[in-house]
Amino acid sequence: MNVRDSEAVAAMLEAAGHERCGSEEDAELVIVNSCTVRDKAEQKAIGKTGYLTAERLGRGRSAQAKIAAGKASKLKLVGLMGCAVKRLGAEVFEKVPGLDFAAGPRKFWMIPRLVERCLAGESELLELAGDDEVPEGLGVHSDAPSGQSFQAYVTILLGCDNRCSYCIVPDVRGHEYSRPAREVVAEVRSLAERGVKEVCLLGQSVLRYGVRNKAWDESDAPSPGGYTEPFPRLLEALASIPGLERIRFTSAHPKGCTDELVRAYRSFPQVCRHLHLPVQSGSDRILGLMGRHYTRAEYLAAVKKLRDFDPEFSLTTDVIVGYPGETAEDFEETRSLMEEAGYENAFVFKYSPRPGTRAAALPDDVPTSEKERRDQVLLADQDARGLARNGRLVGTVREVLAEGPSLRNEARWSGRDSGNRIVIFDNPGSVRAGDVVKVRIERAAAQTLYGQLVC
Ligand code: SAH
Ligand code: SF4
Repeated sequence: MNVRDSEAVAAMLEAAGHERCGSEEDAELVIVNSCTVRDKAEQKAIGKTGYLTAERLGRGRSAQAKIAAGKASKLKLVGLMGCAVKRLGAEVFEKVPGLDFAAGPRKFWMIPRLVERCLAGESELLELAGDDEVPEGLGVHSDAPSGQSFQAYVTILLGCDNRCSYCIVPDVRGHEYSRPAREVVAEVRSLAERGVKEVCLLGQSVLRYGVRNKAWDESDAPSPGGYTEPFPRLLEALASIPGLERIRFTSAHPKGCTDELVRAYRSFPQVCRHLHLPVQSGSDRILGLMGRHYTRAEYLAAVKKLRDFDPEFSLTTDVIVGYPGETAEDFEETRSLMEEAGYENAFVFKYSPRPGTRAAALPDDVPTSEKERRDQVLLADQDARGLARNGRLVGTVREVLAEGPSLRNEARWSGRDSGNRIVIFDNPGSVRAGDVVKVRIERAAAQTLYGQLVC
C-alpha cells in the first residue's frame, strides 16, 4: 500500500514538473514513506529521515553521515509521509529536526503543494487527514516512461474498521472506504490500454469491498454472471478488460472466502490462484483475544474451500508470535495450523505493542528471546514446507509472467506463476518483460522454482 501511495506521489510530482532521478545522491527532494505497524518499522523510517535531514543540514554526527553529506550536497528538501506521520502528528518535527514537511496517509495528494510552499520558504508544514477523508489522486499513475511498467497496483479500499486488538492501522489509516467500482474499472482499463498486463488490487481487507459503503450503484450495468457480492462482481468487470492478463489482490480475511468468490476464481482465468490470507494465530484462545472474528476451524474451512477448487491453489499468510499471554501450547497450535493449511510462504512478525491499541494495555510478557525462538521455529518449518510443496511441481509446466533478468545473471530471467511463485528460467533473448511464457520446472527450492522455456 505504501509502494502504491509513493507511486501516486511520484506521478503527481512529475505532473507538476519535477523529474525522477536515478539515485538518492542525485536527488534535490527525498520523501520517506513510513509504516508504523510495528515499532521497528517506524524507527527505521524516522531514522532514515533524520539521517537525510542531518546530511542536508551539514551536521552529520557520524563519520558515515559526513561522507554522505559530501555526496548529497544537492539535497534541498526532505519530507515524510505515511502512517508514522499520522501517529506522531506535530511531534515528527521534534523527532526529525530539519524536516521540511510531513503528510499523513490520507493526505499524500497534498505533497506537490507542500513542496511548492517549502520551495517558497515555508517550513515544518504538516497535513493530517480526518478518518473519513477520501484522498484525491488515488488513481493517478505515471505518464513518464521511467514510471511505467507492465504491473500496477490499484487501491480499491482505504482504511480498516476491524480493530484487531494489536493493530494500529485503523488509527492511522482511518475508516474503511471502498472506491466506486466505476472508478476502479476505468483506472484498470486505462492501465491495460497503456500496456499493463497485471494489476494488484489493494486494501487491508479487500474482500470487504463495497460492504461499509456501496461500490456499485443502480446506474451501473447489472452483473452478466449474476454476481451479487461487490468484490466478485468487481473481478467479473475487470476480467472483461482486453489485454489484462492477471488480476491479483491483497490482503484477505477468511470471512470473505464465499462461494461467489470461488465461482469468480473458477470463471475467470485472469484471477490468479493465490491468496494472502493472514491467520495471525492457530489458537482459538489467542484469536479471540486478538478480535479476529474467526476460529481455527473457520479459517481452515476457508482454506479447504480454496484447495478443493484447485489443489495447487497458493496460500500465503501473516503470523504474529509472542502476543501477550501466548503460551507454548498456543504456539504449538499455530505450528500445527500452518502445517494443515500448507502455506507456500509465510511472514512471521514478533508482537510489538502499539500505543493506543487494546493489546498495548496488556503486559508484553513473552520475552524477546522466546519471541525470537518462536519466529525461527516457524521460519524453519516454513522452509521445509515450501521445499516440499514446490517439489511437487517439478516436471509440471507453469505459465509465467516474465518480469526481467535476475540480478546476478542477465540470461537468467525471473517471473511469477499464477500462484505468485517465483520462477527462474533461461531467456535466449526472445522473451520480453511482460510476456507470458511456459516454463517446465526442473528444480525446486523453498521459495523459488527453476526451469526451462517450453517452445
Ligand atoms: N490488514 C491485513 C494486515 C495488515 S498489517 C490483515 O489483517 O490481513 C500486516 C501484518 O502486520 C499483519 O497481518 C500482522 O501479522 C502484522 N502486525 C500488525 N500489527 C502488529 C503488531 N502490533 N505486532 C506485530 N505484528 C503486527
Ligand atoms: Fe489491522 Fe486487523 Fe485491520 Fe488487518 S484487519 S489492518 S490486522 S485491524
